[in-house]
This record gives sequence, structure tokens and C-alpha cells, in this order.
Amino acid sequence: MKSIAVAIDGPSGAGKSTIARAAAGHLGFVYVDTGAMYRTIGLAVCRAGVQLGETEKIQSVLDAGLQVSLRYQDGVQHVLLNGEDVSGLIRTPEMSKYASFVSAVPAVRAFLLDTQREMARTHNVIMDGRDIGTVILPDAEVKIFLTASPEARARRRFIELQEKGEQVTYEDVLTDMIQRDHDDETRAAAPLRQAEDAVLVDTSDLTLEQSMEAVEAVVRRALED
Ligand code: C5P
Repeated sequence: MKSIAVAIDGPSGAGKSTIARAAAGHLGFVYVDTGAMYRTIGLAVCRAGVQLGETEKIQSVLDAGLQVSLRYQDGVQHVLLNGEDVSGLIRTPEMSKYASFVSAVPAVRAFLLDTQREMARTHNVIMDGRDIGTVILPDAEVKIFLTASPEARARRRFIELQEKGEQVTYEDVLTDMIQRDHDDETRAAAPLRQAEDAVLVDTSDLTLEQSMEAVEAVVRRALED
């Protein structure tokens, strides 16, 4: 039987991962967080001593036998770098920058494309990222572009980082977010943009609960058709 794919794209902090994870749980689909895969390559590149901006050094890290794989434990995605579970290590502001840096490199995107498509071929998935509806799964049954104002997104991310004990200011989070949006939207390789057939959901003025309801309503409607 053909598997079903729900693609959720949008900028960071719009609530994609929380909402996609919850919706996947309700639907019994596998949640695939593609950002975690870019973060993992970012971590590998950082560990190899490559500085942000040293794009020409990335290929050799990919060629050194780098492996990124996904495992699911109790429905929770874990991402492995050469077999090591790095799921916790990749959630830092520094790895956000490294992820954004490596994600602009076409060879990195090509490296992850097969793994992402294979997941969607073999499972019913809710996959979130930046280019899922436009590049990875252009035939996805449901496409959603989830966004919110930069201020609303920075506020949420700031609270999240504070809860984790990270020493950051709201201003720094907002500046980083605007920079990352700009980089993601203007890069030549698979820039962040809404697919023509994606439904726009703006969560600026919605609570998390309302955002989830809005997304699940779109998914349910599309799957009923
Ligand atoms: O979603 P998350 O914030 O974890 O993604 C980290 C970075 O990885 C993004 O800022 C973006 O540059 C990149 N990314 C991407 N394509 C995806 C998912 C993430 O370019 N499908």
C-alpha cells in the first residue's frame, strides 16, 4: 500500500517540531525531524575543526565515512552520528548556526535526500523541514507552511532555551533567528519557501494548542478528500 506523507515546512520557532510530533502521535505516523539531520552534520563538521564559513572543508567531512541515521524509541526520534546518539548535543544555539551553515551546501542536501525520501517511501510520515514540500516530497498528500512573526518565534525559542539553562538574551535569540531566516530564504540550494500547493498556517497569535488544532484540521481535511 502506498504510504502517506505530510510535509510541514517553515522557519525555525514556528512550532513545527512540537506540532508535527503531536500530530504524528495522533495519526499513528512516524515523525521525521529533518532539521536534526542537518544539525548532526553540523556537529560532525564542528568536531572536525571546521569554522563557520569554511565551506570548502565540508566535503572532506562528508567523504570521511560520515553516517547519519534515525532510530525510534517509544515513538521518539533519535539521531545517530556514526552510531553515537547525538540527539541532545545538537540542540544548542551553536549547532543551530552550524546546521544553517552546512545546509546551504548542495552536497550536504544531496547526502540527506535519499535517507529522507526512503523514510517517506517505507512509512506514513509527518516530515518537517524547509524544503520538504518543495524538493524532498513534492507529491506529499498534505503540505503545510507553518510560520509566525520573528518576534513570536524568538520569544518561544528564548523561553525554551532559558528552561534548558542556556545563558541567552531575547535580543540575541531574535537577531540569530532573523539571520538564520535570511540565510535559509536566500541560499541558492533549496531555499525556504512556501510550496504553491501548501496551506499557510500562521501561529503568531495562536497558543500551541490552537496551532495544533489548526494543523490537525488541515491534515484531517486533506486526508478525507
Ligand atoms: O529545524 P531546525 O531549526 O532544527 O533546522 C536547523 C537548520 O537546518 C535550519 O536553520 C536550516 O538551515 C536547516 N534545515 C534545512 N532543511 C531542512 C531542515 C533544516 O536547510 N529540511
